[in-house]
Amino acid sequence: MHPWISERTEAFDSSGIRRVFDLAANLKDPINLSIGQPDFDVPESIKAAAIEAIESGKNAYSPTQGIAALKERLLTQVSDTYPTHENRDLFVSSGTSGGLVLAMLSMINPGDEVIFMDPYFVMYPSLVRMCGGVPVPVDSYPDFAINPDRIAAAVTSKTKMILINSPANPTGVTADRESLEAVARLAKEKEIALVSDEIYSTFFYDGEFVSPAEFNDQTIVIDGFSKSHAMTGWRVGYVHGPREIMSVMLKLQQYSFVCAPQPAQWGALQATQVDLSGHVDEYRKKRDYLCSELAGDYEISKPNGAFYVFPKAPGDSGAKFVERAIAENLLIVPGNIFSHRDSHFRISFAASDETLKRGVEVLKRLARSSC
Ligand code: PMP
Repeated sequence: MHPWISERTEAFDSSGIRRVFDLAANLKDPINLSIGQPDFDVPESIKAAAIEAIESGKNAYSPTQGIAALKERLLTQVSDTYPTHENRDLFVSSGTSGGLVLAMLSMINPGDEVIFMDPYFVMYPSLVRMCGGVPVPVDSYPDFAINPDRIAAAVTSKTKMILINSPANPTGVTADRESLEAVARLAKEKEIALVSDEIYSTFFYDGEFVSPAEFNDQTIVIDGFSKSHAMTGWRVGYVHGPREIMSVMLKLQQYSFVCAPQPAQWGALQATQVDLSGHVDEYRKKRDYLCSELAGDYEISKPNGAFYVFPKAPGDSGAKFVERAIAENLLIVPGNIFSHRDSHFRISFAASDETLKRGVEVLKRLARSSC
């Protein structure tokens, strides 16, 4: 290792995903079902609001906590949802990732344990380790449900945080109300910080999204506009939770991210007015199509949210299966990037119907040729 590189960076291992990208780099016109962002473009009114902001000179730093209009709009929404949470404050972050980084830096001391479900979003264990914390992944195979008993069994005297992600990346699975309530009450009773990554809350297909914050007024919620409004490159998210925690996170934001990009915040203000139900209906259809086409050949937990399916790979390794798929021009992601197990793979259905159809053909062929 280069002598200038810090030991901390060893917490970040992106070799698995890099390997997939390297293999993919040789493909000419891949059937790409690997992407973690919507296939629709940013709605026009949002683009217009950002352009108007740029042209009218709203290009400077914003206040650290975000432009007043966006902060107020979001805080009003949050107060309407949680009218009894008197101590809840909110700030605008540099994407959900920015919120996650600040949450870890603000709350995790060396040796603190952080519980989350396995499979997990790739960033979670690395961010915990970056702060000297200890990731405690809790196995959620085979149905990927949030399991309050398994979480309770993982709690020790060192547990500092439980990190929940529903709908989840990479499984698309959503937690039911009872499980969320049980975890929320457990965290409250044991005085453990409960962080809820709700970036996929808009993409909820059957029933209504439930947040653990409903059952625990100290929950720290991290959300953003990346996925819901296809604004991944705009870097606007927001965090809400207990005032004391928000003010420390904000202090760290001031000396790191500074603020979310101001023109993008004006776009996000407009985004709060945009009706996304058409896109959600479209994605529900894509999910139904993919799951019904693959049901005969793959073991699948039907996802109720996000835009991912996480089937079991034929054979003994998800990584080997992904190599076979890439050799057939199909880009998917091996499950071992998100998990201690190497048995599954992730498909993103945030793709055109034509691309999905081509992907389904390859997946069926691969499953049948593995038998
Ligand atoms: N959390 C989860 C579960 C995600 O899947 C992602 C993006 N892939 C993020 C957070 C980060 O999103 P953002 O673009 O808002 O930083």
